[in-house]
Amino acid sequence: MSYPAELTTGARILIVDDEPVGARAVAAMLEGYGHQVELAHDWTAAIRMFRPEIDLVLMDVILPDVDGFKLTRLLRQKSSVYVPVVLVTGRDDPDAKERGLVAGADDFLSKPVDPFELRTRVAAMLRIRRLTMALHQQAHIDSLTGIGNRYAFDQEWDRRKSEFSRYKRTMSLLMFDVDHFKKVNDTYGHEEGDEVLRVLGRVMRQTIRKCDRAYRFGGEEFVVFAPETNVEGAVVLANRIREAFFAATGATLAGRQTVSVGVVGVSEDADDVDAHSLLHRADELLYEAKHKGRDQVRSASLDDR
Ligand code: GH3
Ligand code: MG
Ligand code: MG
Repeated sequence: MSYPAELTTGARILIVDDEPVGARAVAAMLEGYGHQVELAHDWTAAIRMFRPEIDLVLMDVILPDVDGFKLTRLLRQKSSVYVPVVLVTGRDDPDAKERGLVAGADDFLSKPVDPFELRTRVAAMLRIRRLTMALHQQAHIDSLTGIGNRYAFDQEWDRRKSEFSRYKRTMSLLMFDVDHFKKVNDTYGHEEGDEVLRVLGRVMRQTIRKCDRAYRFGGEEFVVFAPETNVEGAVVLANRIREAFFAATGATLAGRQTVSVGVVGVSEDADDVDAHSLLHRADELLYEAKHKGRDQVRSASLDDR
């Protein structure tokens, strides 16, 4: 029987099992089906190795220190995109399934693992994984520009703000607004306006660093998060985007366009920074840039107000 390729190959599967011999046997079967397998022999390794790239977890129920139920709960809390978890139980352990379900597991396999069972269960789980990934993508990505949307921004913001108050990280927030954008729409039509926004999205994707995040905040307003970046660094980044946008829009029908930017930075020794005032300040600075003649960056550090 041949399975659709996307269900049987190329997935990244994490096996959590303290018994290396059995785990390696299961890993060999999965690798035989074309998957990439990683092995974690205890709960600390599992937590460390559990990353957004992992498509599926096969979890042994009986582990030293932290059992498979508790570990499933911990991994669930850690993941923002849904990752299916299959619990591997002993043959005579009927209430393990109930406990597993409550802990958040999706399916069960019993030891010793049967190759055919393994293959079908894994295929079914990967179908769920792919559907949730597609859904996640649709919910978080702005379809016009290909960067994060407002919902994604709000989610990220919630995560960042607790990081902030706890670890007092340096970071900057950059707020962009296309200048006289209404004129582009009025003169060249909405389609051309859309093209200009696409260019800004592309310029941002190409200019920011891997740890930075770009979002379309709404309409023709865009936001970039630059973690571990002070205000001076963020101003350099803002100007780089501003100049690249000016150059790249030269190739559109509407011709060269400019953008104004408000940049606010927070240093690690700033105290009592709340997320709302950071956004508010970036917005004020953007307004200042508009007022001073547009096509420029205005910046401030939140702690030296
Ligand atoms: P300013 O320099 O002061 O920012 O001037 P502006 O014309 O850019 O300011 P305003 O905020 O008045 O205009 C924003 C325009 O953006 C109005 C709206 O029609 C347009 N817009 C918002 N979203 C979209 C979109 O998705 N596509 C297109 N083509 N236009 C959009
Ligand atoms: Mg605007
Ligand atoms: Mg504008």
